Amino acid sequence: MPNRFRAASVEATQVAAWIVQGAERLGAEELRRQAVFSYGQRLMEMSARVPVHAQAAHEQRFPRAGRLDQAERAAAGSTVWARLSASALARNADAEVEGGCPCGGGGWIAMPPLPEAPDAMTCPVHGRETVRRHRGGAA
Ligand SMILES: [Zn+2]
Repeated sequence: MPNRFRAASVEATQVAAWIVQGAERLGAEELRRQAVFSYGQRLMEMSARVPVHAQAAHEQRFPRAGRLDQAERAAAGSTVWARLSASALARNADAEVEGGCPCGGGGWIAMPPLPEAPDAMTCPVHGRETVRRHRGGAA
C-alpha cells in the first residue's frame, strides 16, 4: 500500500492485492505473531496501560501511526463480509504483550497505592477470561 493511499481513489481489488502482497512478504507465522502483539497493544491502549517496552516495540514495528491506521481500516473493510473458519475466529482473539505483560500472565495488574482505590485491575489482555466467567456468573 503506498504511503499516500486514499481509500476513495483505489479499487477494492487493488487494496486486496496489497494485503495479499504484504501477507506473502511477512509469511503466515510472522503475520500471526504480529497480529497477536497488535491486538494486545490495542487492548492495553484501550485501558491506558501500555508498558513502555511494549510501546517502544510497537512504534519500532509501525513507525508511522497514520499508515498503520490506514492499513488497519483497509484490512478491516476487506474482511467485514468474509466468512472465517472457527479456528480463524479463535486466532483473532489471541492477544499478547510484546516483551511481557505487567500482570505476568496472572490476569491482575497492581495499581499504585491510593486511599479508597482498588489495589489491582483486571489485565485487559490476560484477565479477559476472568471477566467472561464473572459476567457468566461462574466467578
Ligand atoms: Zn496481562
